[in-house]
Amino acid sequence: MNDHYPFELLPLPYEFDALEPFIDAQTMEIHHNRHLKTYVDNLNAALKDYPQYHLMSLEQLIRFVCKLPVTIQTAVKDNAGGVYNHNFYFSIMGNLNQRPMGKMNCMIKKAFGTYENFEVALKESALKRFGSGWAWLAIDSACTLKIISTANQDTLLSTDLRPVLLIDVWEHAYYLKYKNKRVDYIDNWFNVINWNKVEEILIAEL
Ligand code: MN
Repeated sequence: MNDHYPFELLPLPYEFDALEPFIDAQTMEIHHNRHLKTYVDNLNAALKDYPQYHLMSLEQLIRFVCKLPVTIQTAVKDNAGGVYNHNFYFSIMGNLNQRPMGKMNCMIKKAFGTYENFEVALKESALKRFGSGWAWLAIDSACTLKIISTANQDTLLSTDLRPVLLIDVWEHAYYLKYKNKRVDYIDNWFNVINWNKVEEILIAEL
């Protein structure tokens, strides 16, 4: 897979129905095949006439968006962020009813006291995000876990936080099944985290 123009739609690393009953297959199919695909297509369209940026990676485009021509800054920021966030989000789901293990288990207990406290804190951040956005679990420069939320398709790439986990709280992530009840989606979402993958990400970031 290219990590530069033209960007491609990464395949979902599990079946659309793999997260049932917590997240339904139709939501996953529309989320991946339509929402994520639209971000990929719009990112490619924004870059099409600018070959000088065709070898930049997704992360480079997001980090250096201010150096791009003003006419494409917004489109690149929103759509590259959309691709980055969704690829990350889809990658850390896929196992059912797991709990953190190993290093992540230790770090959650250190930062939050208990796993349950961690759920409460992430849930609060995800619920309080007004409108559309994301809530993240990330490591700060002192290697402590932090929870933070971002608006729209903003990422943490411009901060010194290194993300290990994130939840999409745009309505398209849950509306078909949970309607307006973001809180029910969040409660159920904790059951679809692939903690093996999160552990892998954490260890690579430490
Ligand atoms: Mn989404």
